[in-house]
Amino acid sequence: MDGMATETRHEVLRAKAAEIARSVVAPTAGRHDRDITLPVEMLKALHEQGLLSLCVPKELGGDGVNIVLGHDPISYLVVLEELGKVDMASTHCFQVHAHAVQMLAVAATPEQQKRYFAPIVDGGEVISWTATEPGGTARGHYGMVTEARPTPDGLEVTGEKTYGTLASIAAWTLLHAALPDLPAPQNMIMFMVPKSAEGFEIDLDWWNPVGMRAAVSPRVNLHQVKVPKRDIIQDGGFYARDNYGSRWHLAFGATHLGAAQGILDFICDYLPKRGTGGNPHAQRAVGEMVMRIEAARGLLYKAARFWGGSDIPAAERYALMGKLYAMATAEWIINEAVRVAGSSALFEEHPLSRQIRNIHVQSTHANLDNTAQSIGRARMGLDFDPANQQ
Ligand SMILES: Cc1cc2nc3c(=O)[nH]c(=O)nc-3n(C[C@H](O)[C@H](O)[C@H](O)COP(=O)(O)OP(=O)(O)OC[C@H]3O[C@@H](n4cnc5c(N)ncnc54)[C@H](O)[C@@H]3O)c2cc1C
Repeated sequence: MDGMATETRHEVLRAKAAEIARSVVAPTAGRHDRDITLPVEMLKALHEQGLLSLCVPKELGGDGVNIVLGHDPISYLVVLEELGKVDMASTHCFQVHAHAVQMLAVAATPEQQKRYFAPIVDGGEVISWTATEPGGTARGHYGMVTEARPTPDGLEVTGEKTYGTLASIAAWTLLHAALPDLPAPQNMIMFMVPKSAEGFEIDLDWWNPVGMRAAVSPRVNLHQVKVPKRDIIQDGGFYARDNYGSRWHLAFGATHLGAAQGILDFICDYLPKRGTGGNPHAQRAVGEMVMRIEAARGLLYKAARFWGGSDIPAAERYALMGKLYAMATAEWIINEAVRVAGSSALFEEHPLSRQIRNIHVQSTHANLDNTAQSIGRARMGLDFDPANQQ
């Protein structure tokens, strides 16, 4: 899409993603939600349309979109927004892969990038990124228990990870662990593990949530997994040192914004068919939905534009605000939608109940009170951690 005007590129991408959402995600999302299976048809369609490699660097066959590098973040957000309108769980799968690719495009060596990205561009493979550990929130987001013991050949890794979205099918998983005898966060090291590695075990039974079920995120057990030097990403501590954790907020905002818009679209289609579109309370609710979604969209895309510039502290503050406001809007819409649509709209045949469950689960990624506290601290001139996801 080189040579295209920026707005045109965004509209082309939005249309492509909307078409995949309509023709591939919508007919399959209910089944994947029921059966707790990954949205493989969507991943295949994203590959066929070139979107799986959206964030792969241009010289390696992708489009080079990257929030960390400030390379046209909006191209990424419009795709998430369109997919999110139909199914947040499927969208999260794309998001995890795209975040891993963006991280590696910044942190991995050219040789590593060639090896990790060729299977994506040529074969439609995906990458998982799993940092979470049981009880990790209380230890702080850099407090890893999984241990990476240095050996003459690289690392030997033992521990337990949870919420490994895509890990059951991904060609590679990007993992974090702690180097011994160093304090956090300097001890946090990142490395890649292939699906076939000895000691890399997937426990699918662990995943049975009330929502986001199709974003299959198993427990990953690591038993003395051997990581050769060539699969270690940089040195220990680089992730915290360069504050990369603040780069991912916008994407969570975009999926929630999409989900909120999807619910509004559903309500506007459903109420007239149900004969309840004349109800003044429903009309008031729809009006408020329109306003809040527009406000959330304005804030999120304003935040995205900061990442293309040099004022990173402003980008971090606005990304937190954009995420929080989009999530709060999606959570607010749930109650309004249920009140005006009524109970029949929550039957299995309607997508509303699936998206409501998805929003409830996905919005627990970050504690919204903590996010608001960070924004408050920033406004009062106090130090704040823009990467804190607790
Ligand atoms: C659908 C889904 C997909 C996911 N995919 C991935 C993925 O691909 N990769 C990945 O690495 N992770 C992933 N995660 C994990 C996610 O980022 C969070 O780490 C996880 O949801 C934390 O949940 P928990 O129940 O373990 O939190 P807990 O650690 O049990 O915390 C629960 C609540 O208590 C609060 N709390 C806990 N301890 C403290 C404390 N000391 N001080 C203040 N407040 C505290 C927290 O703010 C939080 O609100 C995923 C999560 C979901 C829901």
